[in-house]
Amino acid sequence: MMRTRVALVAGAAAAALVLAACGGDEDGETAAPDVTAEESPEFEAGTTMAELAEAGQMTIGTKFDQPLFGLADLEGVPQGFDVEIAKLIAAQLGITEDNIEWVETVSANREPFLEQGRVDMVVATYTINEERDKVVDFAGPYYVAGQDILVPAGNPDGVEGPEDLAGLRVCSVSGSTPAENIRTNYAEANLVEFDAYTDCLEALLNGQVDNMTTDNVILSGYVSENPDEVELVGNPFTEEPYGIGVPESEDKVFCEWVNDTLNELYEDGSWAEAFEATVGEVIEETPEPPATGSCETPGAA
Ligand code: GLU
Repeated sequence: MMRTRVALVAGAAAAALVLAACGGDEDGETAAPDVTAEESPEFEAGTTMAELAEAGQMTIGTKFDQPLFGLADLEGVPQGFDVEIAKLIAAQLGITEDNIEWVETVSANREPFLEQGRVDMVVATYTINEERDKVVDFAGPYYVAGQDILVPAGNPDGVEGPEDLAGLRVCSVSGSTPAENIRTNYAEANLVEFDAYTDCLEALLNGQVDNMTTDNVILSGYVSENPDEVELVGNPFTEEPYGIGVPESEDKVFCEWVNDTLNELYEDGSWAEAFEATVGEVIEETPEPPATGSCETPGAA
């Protein structure tokens, strides 16, 4: 049943995906609102929340090369929607922005970094799926994207959807759901895999690949930075519910707390403010936030 709800939200987000004029975001700065950390929040002893609040600092994995979601600025500090969501969650633990250590996570190392304890949380355009849920816990979703295709301006190969990729060099990132989808369902495409999306973008701009594929909102960020060189096909063909990854636990207490916190951010308007300050550069209409699921069965309420 939940799947239907996610589908509706995804449809709404996809329909509203209108590329705004170039946002002038070259230095990665966002106009994100200030985030105020709670003073001395109280948590039950022994919980992850109590431990993190006591430490007064935490380590968060995010992307460093994805405009609008997680893009390192000139000082190397990531900016974007994922970063804002992460800061808002940390603030509820009493952790201020300067006490967050940002760690770059690429698509393939998100589960290992959570399993190894290298990060306390991952907020990184991270699609909730069953395979990943076997080794980490997911709160959310807090946004639903859809896989799409980025082509050279003018769309020289006339690509309108994934079925047109046969025989073309399609770039995506190892360990990502879009790469897996192409490998499994569109085997006639010549999949080229790199570690990060900017490597694909560079290969596309150099003509080493014919197009690249991942979530529409990630690709939109690259369009806004290279409006004369690339364009989005604009025909999303999957649902990518973005979750917040936390280390797997039996009791799911931390994961459920993140869900409760997300719901507070939905209600007090902080989610919408963070969206408008970041992804709002390319999506004119702020969507309704998706319903969060249960940590036992992520994606299901
Ligand atoms: N959301 C997809 C995933 O988690 C693609 C974006 C990414 O690689 O971060 O695999």
